[in-house]
Amino acid sequence: MSEVIIEDIFMKRSQQKKKTSPLNYKERLFVLTQDKISYYDYDYEKAKKKGLKGSVEIDKIKCVETVMPEDNAPPERLYPFQIVYDDGPLYIFAKTDNVRKQWIHKLKNVVRFNKDLLQKYHPCFWEDGMWKCCQQEVKQAMGCKLLEMRNGGISKGSHRKSRKPLPPTPEEEKTSRSPHPQPPQQHGFSVGMTVIAEYEYTPMTPQDLEMKKDEQYTILDICDANWVRAKDKYGNEGYIPSNYVVEALNGLEKFEWYCKNMNRSQAENLLKTENKDGGFLVRDSGKYSGKYTVSVFTKSTGDMVGSCRHYNILTTEQGQFYLAEKHYFNNIPDLITYHQHNAAGLVSRLKHIVSARAQNAPSTAGLGYGVWEIDPHQLTFIKELGSGQFGVVKYGKWQGRHDVAIKMIREGSMSEDDFIDEAKVMMKLRHENLVQLYGVCTKQRPIYIVTEFLSNGCLLNYLREYLQHPSPVELLEMCKDVSEGMAYLEYQQFIHRDLAARNCLVDANGTVKVTDFGLSRYVLDDEYTPSAGSKFPVRWSPPEVLLYSKFSSKSDIWAFGVLMWEIYTLGRMPYERLNNSDIVDKVPAGYRLYRPQMASDRIYSIMTMCWHEKPDERPTFQDLVMIIQDLLDNMH
Ligand code: ADP
Repeated sequence: MSEVIIEDIFMKRSQQKKKTSPLNYKERLFVLTQDKISYYDYDYEKAKKKGLKGSVEIDKIKCVETVMPEDNAPPERLYPFQIVYDDGPLYIFAKTDNVRKQWIHKLKNVVRFNKDLLQKYHPCFWEDGMWKCCQQEVKQAMGCKLLEMRNGGISKGSHRKSRKPLPPTPEEEKTSRSPHPQPPQQHGFSVGMTVIAEYEYTPMTPQDLEMKKDEQYTILDICDANWVRAKDKYGNEGYIPSNYVVEALNGLEKFEWYCKNMNRSQAENLLKTENKDGGFLVRDSGKYSGKYTVSVFTKSTGDMVGSCRHYNILTTEQGQFYLAEKHYFNNIPDLITYHQHNAAGLVSRLKHIVSARAQNAPSTAGLGYGVWEIDPHQLTFIKELGSGQFGVVKYGKWQGRHDVAIKMIREGSMSEDDFIDEAKVMMKLRHENLVQLYGVCTKQRPIYIVTEFLSNGCLLNYLREYLQHPSPVELLEMCKDVSEGMAYLEYQQFIHRDLAARNCLVDANGTVKVTDFGLSRYVLDDEYTPSAGSKFPVRWSPPEVLLYSKFSSKSDIWAFGVLMWEIYTLGRMPYERLNNSDIVDKVPAGYRLYRPQMASDRIYSIMTMCWHEKPDERPTFQDLVMIIQDLLDNMH
């Protein structure tokens, strides 16, 4: 049986699968695992679970959401939530709002890869043969309210995270590696859907469609996980990158001030960089809360540096929105417009919209649909960024417009044919916390690997040189970024093999992305052989790699613990007083890195979990994402 994620005793409403079955409420012990949510009869006297009463398989779940309590609900039924699956909704009543939030959060996390997540739900109960919210009398009737945060999607960094592609299942992934791939569908778009462009898109090939920010497009065809064919309002058709558009759900996407999924520290960074008194943006308050926060920068408090304030947008019982008592609005745009003119209790009126969007269009998977061989004549080299295992890396432009990093592979340093085969698979990996591979130039020597360019360079340097007085949130956000990128790789059953701060890069917003995944397999260098070679990442390796060269996602987990340690020491060398052969002796015998001064006991316990001697006892990246997110939620 898979491990228990969470368990608790809740009131459950009978499901009335037959029309005649009675409506009743019973206490049950609910147990959530990665595969199922099960409920049991509970023996209070012996404090243990009795017989299994029912269960729902996680992959059958289509929606997890709160429900409005009934009118005059008794105290034990004030915090209901619903799990929607084929048999209809399962209604569960938590004891407090916090417990309900926690369960919804965990449930959304486990269902996020499900295929048939709903876009709409019923906010009220099904009662007496009718949906209380919309009066529809068919139990299967489609929901009447759009989910603000769709069920899935915990990846971060882009503005469209909540409706984010659900990565393909390992099954789909296997198919996509076959000679005639069935493209995995990642984005949750469907043919005929209307979407809004969050960014300008300049065509990269003649088959592409130009997009203007905030305009609407209709999806005509789903090409693969990363590209769709679309039509604009004039009838022009072509390919567009799916991560440049969102389905308009909460209606805020088109507003410049809405920075979906920006977290608190990113908002502060951005506002401070803009450095304008009254600069503001609106962001999601937390991952799944469906609530919003206005972040404002002010210099009016007299200090020269300025500071940020964060105001949660509150709602009245009638569903009106407000920041300040007595100023209520029917919708958030009206509220913002009002506060653009009136401080009304805020530290400043909202004077300047600050938006990360325009400057930072996300990377596309490849430089055009189906393009992976890049014409080197379309590359311009601008400056050298550094050099690594495979040779020099340069910053440049593709077609004179798009920023790219170009790895020029020194001849003899890589087993090129093997890499070129694998590159096609790697191009399909796309996540905001992975450095995107755009394509390769293989028709000449040296071959080039062309990737997304990240202006803040390598994380190790960033930690050592730029990060002056990082806040606890900032450090943990970095760990979170890496864990999210790695959770995606783990899900794709792709092993990194060389995760370390030197193999992460930092973008202009301070988002960390993992790079060079899987590349170590193609290194031709005797010094790179496991444990013996001087260039082998001994300091990031678990005992089973040092002793038997056994790589797995669990060896990546160990490396992640060391990477966290690098973050919390601002880039110190792990085991700095030991040489490689000391490490090979001591680590399998139980020796571990010390707790960095900046790491709390809780943070250090995450690192030590990753350094469990037995690989199976280490957490997964998905666990780490949840653990870190919980910690962050409590810090915000
Ligand atoms: P190699 O894979 O050959 O070992 P690296 O990936 O270590 O090379 O790259 C060498 C240096 O080039 C890095 O330390 C970093 O500073 C810079 N660099 C590499 N890729 C990028 C990129 N995509 N964006 C910005 N800088 C990069």
